[in-house]
Amino acid sequence: MTILKRAVMAAAILLTAACQQGSPGENAANPAAERDAVAPVLDTPDAVDIHSFAKPLIARVTHVALDLTVDFDARRLGGTATLDIQKRPDAREIILDDRGLEIDKIADQSGKPLPFKVGAADPNLGSPIAIGLNGDTSRLVITYKSAPDAGALQWLTPEQTAGKKMPYLFSQGQAIENRSWIPTQDSPGIRQTWEATIRTPPGFTAVMSAPRAEPPMTQGGEGIFKFRMDHGVAPYMIAIAVGDLKFRELGPRSGVWTEPSMLDAAATELSDTEKMISAAEKLFGPYPWGRYDMLVLPPSFPFGGMENPTLTFLTPTFIAGDKSLVSLVAHELAHSWSGNLATNATWSDFWLNEGTTTYAERRIVEELYGSKVATQQVALGVDSMHKEMAGLSSADTRLHIDLKGRHPDDGLTDVAYEKGAAFLRTIENAVGRQRFDAFLRGWFQRHSFQPVTSAMFLADVRQYLIEGDKALETKLQLDRWVNEPGIPSNMLKPDPQAFAAVDQAVAAFGRGGAPDTKSWNGWTSDERLRFLNKLPRKLAAGRLDSLEKAFGLNGIRNMEVRFAWLDLAIANRYQPAVPSLEQFLTMQGRRKFVRPLIEALAKDQQWGRPIAARIYAKARAGYHPITTRDLDKLGLGAG
Ligand SMILES: [Zn+2]
Repeated sequence: MTILKRAVMAAAILLTAACQQGSPGENAANPAAERDAVAPVLDTPDAVDIHSFAKPLIARVTHVALDLTVDFDARRLGGTATLDIQKRPDAREIILDDRGLEIDKIADQSGKPLPFKVGAADPNLGSPIAIGLNGDTSRLVITYKSAPDAGALQWLTPEQTAGKKMPYLFSQGQAIENRSWIPTQDSPGIRQTWEATIRTPPGFTAVMSAPRAEPPMTQGGEGIFKFRMDHGVAPYMIAIAVGDLKFRELGPRSGVWTEPSMLDAAATELSDTEKMISAAEKLFGPYPWGRYDMLVLPPSFPFGGMENPTLTFLTPTFIAGDKSLVSLVAHELAHSWSGNLATNATWSDFWLNEGTTTYAERRIVEELYGSKVATQQVALGVDSMHKEMAGLSSADTRLHIDLKGRHPDDGLTDVAYEKGAAFLRTIENAVGRQRFDAFLRGWFQRHSFQPVTSAMFLADVRQYLIEGDKALETKLQLDRWVNEPGIPSNMLKPDPQAFAAVDQAVAAFGRGGAPDTKSWNGWTSDERLRFLNKLPRKLAAGRLDSLEKAFGLNGIRNMEVRFAWLDLAIANRYQPAVPSLEQFLTMQGRRKFVRPLIEALAKDQQWGRPIAARIYAKARAGYHPITTRDLDKLGLGAG
């Protein structure tokens, strides 16, 4: 153990001891012997979360109990949040995070009202709620409602669902959205156990990112669903969905929830799940969360997937009919270790969640589908990283990113994902796979259910891999990777032969040759992606015509390939792709697809901008607030 880590742990133990003295009645009042011990909050300067108003070293939330009614007409969740807290003996207030909540009252464990004040709103962070505490306050009972425009929640009309009959609600908490429906300390470094009672109109099913505590029941026409998460989690991992949902078992510990009409397609696409869990366990150790279920959402879900513990949320756009996009599931599954078990303490270290997961995803893919597929996905990832980094400021190409005064989503780039993964591949290559695998398993074990920082990761690499080896220390360039911009010179480059045949076809087409339909038909979707991404960015309309005619690109079902085609089409003002583009942008709301296409259109004042304005006006109502937040800034007139 290094000096730094020892100091952190000593401080954390002191705080926990002090907090327990401050709230003696907590365990007696709420017995839950199987619940995790309270995870400490780190106290080093780099672990201070600038995206939360909470001061957890003075007073912190340890457990959240929600009792909420789902009101589809008013588009609100309302009821109570009961928070168990720990505090320093001298604490006079506790600070929670809030964004637009309508708070009726706050009381302590005996029902006595507590004074509170909601502070001024920051555009990125929302508002602090400062609650006055008495010496014996151990619990807060907050009676409140979420606002109809809560940023975490999307309320879909029946027309926006697959079934078209019932409305639908789902949440997306990462990064700092959950404060719009849960009054708590919304910081990834403040882990909390939680439970929830969700009351729905009749006929609906509620699912959450936790095991069911009791079988669902109906009472007075109301559906009642109870959940309980006994592991301390970062509060962004609390997630809910309510709709017409059905379940199908995929394996002894895995299954899929979705709307009834999508169940067959979803279950078929996900039939490798149990194999994936076994492959991941081989790499990282036993799966730590019990069940691994997935929820396939309506198409407006803003992300590819969200690793909500025990219940990954997935975009339906991964359903290609041929499992060609299931690496998405490998990614979300890998988060069960990287991100959910060991979690970035602040959003400046988001790469610890995403880079580690992207590395792990490819290892799972290699295990299941072979090294050729994995090598190709590495090469695609590195290309995408270079492309994205070319448009970023130099400071934003650091893994440990400075987000002062900014929204955490500014760090949601391929630097976190692909530069992070490249860093881990580079270390693996230097020390050997066997040693690196043992290190990674140890990293997850040593920091299970704990917050982590870049500094802690580097300290672990030095302690368990470098072990004083000066030559290895120099070779790895650890600090350059994490704290400096750009790509260090020692990056393990992707195999230049990964797509040799495809690259030849690109060259042949570039020389004026006809599109090679036979090759195209034999290619995987990764190979098709490579082909489209490597074509010259400027192509004459006749050349694009020939591609569309040969490959049917305007109607292609694989959404990643379709995206690559539309990106190329916009760069060339290719009018025959516009109906396909319009369909693509109105049938799904995945931020990764929607944002770059609409931005590229909007940038082209003459040709693209009117198209963007017309399509966005039509599509916007179907997008999640996380997607519209950035697009509204383009001033297309629909916001
Ligand atoms: Zn991820």
